Amino acid sequence: MEKNQIIELEITDLSYEAMGVAHYEGMTVFVTNALPGEVVSAKVLKVKKRFAFAKIEKIIKKSPNRVEIELNQWVQTGLASLAHLSYDQQLEFKREQVVNLLKKAHLDQVEVGQTVPSPDQTGYRNKAQVPVRMVNGQLEIGFFRKHSHDLVPLTNFFTTDPEIDRVLVKVRDILRENKVPAYDEVHNSGEVRYLDVRRSQATGEIMVILVCLDKDFAQLPQVAEEIKQIAGVTSLVLNHNPKKTNVILGKTDYLVFGLPQITDRIGEVEFKISPESFFQINSKQTPRLYDLAIKQAQLKPTDVVIDAYSGIGTIGLSVAKHVKSVRGIEVVRDAVKDANNNAELNDIHNAKYFAGKAEELMPRWAKKGITSDVIFVDPPRKGLTPEFIEAAVKTGPQKIVYISCNPATMVRDLQEFQKQGYDFNRIDPVDMFPQTPHVEAVTVLTKK
Ligand code: SAH
Repeated sequence: MEKNQIIELEITDLSYEAMGVAHYEGMTVFVTNALPGEVVSAKVLKVKKRFAFAKIEKIIKKSPNRVEIELNQWVQTGLASLAHLSYDQQLEFKREQVVNLLKKAHLDQVEVGQTVPSPDQTGYRNKAQVPVRMVNGQLEIGFFRKHSHDLVPLTNFFTTDPEIDRVLVKVRDILRENKVPAYDEVHNSGEVRYLDVRRSQATGEIMVILVCLDKDFAQLPQVAEEIKQIAGVTSLVLNHNPKKTNVILGKTDYLVFGLPQITDRIGEVEFKISPESFFQINSKQTPRLYDLAIKQAQLKPTDVVIDAYSGIGTIGLSVAKHVKSVRGIEVVRDAVKDANNNAELNDIHNAKYFAGKAEELMPRWAKKGITSDVIFVDPPRKGLTPEFIEAAVKTGPQKIVYISCNPATMVRDLQEFQKQGYDFNRIDPVDMFPQTPHVEAVTVLTKK
């Protein structure tokens, strides 16, 4: 097989990244935008030892599950790389990811629920982080083409709250009119690297964050004045990221005007959210995810609860009034501050959040003799560490509720818990990210 060769492929599978998978002369070929059951004529883009990448030239046989979308760029940029698959099949794809991982781990007996559908399938995101670059001499916002840093200009981000898209475009126009240069990542020059916009579903408050190379620039006062006029915008923050890096946010935030946080609500509980704090992005689906997790915990008024990887305390504070006490761990200091302030804001006096790495703090707690009845864990994609698992078990919980955004590390960690005397018999996938291949899942481990 050679680069630029045109070959006919029968797509047999969908990779976890939502690429069509085909086999050709002993090679595995990944084809963007192709769906299982399709026959395509494809152009080879890149050849490795055992696998290759190709792109569709022509669809010869179309899948009945293919849906027409307005913009191919949504799929090509990875903004919504499953958008061409019908929603029912997206849900099934996510469930299959979990089923297959369990099979590989010889855990076939574990039941996998139907993926819980999201109330909104588009426009569901309460936050957008979009790159800003110069394209043909003009400042553009958009998204990077998959596996590259070519910016594809966009004004409709499809999965984002349309109110956020409106603000993104207005800010883009303000930057253009004031001749503010976009960031140039080759020379680490220019100015605005990303726009980060967050909107509260409960209050409508909108926070705009300009991620910039410098902590100040000549046009900032005028730009700020104009952003202030955009309906709904309640704060402008400048995030200073001077480094040559792919990491989006820098370490320091400067409040240019307005409120230092936005306020949102989950169920009965109100939350203030700082710029660097994590907040679940699908506002309507989050209470369903939490309800599922909380129901499985079967909490009692006497329970001592640990909320690990707590963010701003959304899970712990949602249960605090029904249990004896909550103690939380979170690595982002501002989020910990938010969590403790949010406890106060909601008149909750039995919850306390601590800053630190879960894998370091949990062993210290276990050593001190701190015990728990129920632990919630909600780690980032890399999952838990063996040190964390061992220490968590030492605190003696009856139940451990695991919320995961990466079923591969989740299944790995669940096996570790099994070795340490816990068992589980069911996993429920929840669709937090329609149109993308991301899978969220919940399970409960019970002490044997
Ligand atoms: N439970 C929260 C947050 C989940 S996201 C919610 O539902 O909103 C995962 C959180 O883990 C993020 O807030 C992230 O900052 C935090 N985190 C990442 N690595 C961590 C670590 N090693 N120790 C503790 N917290 C960590």
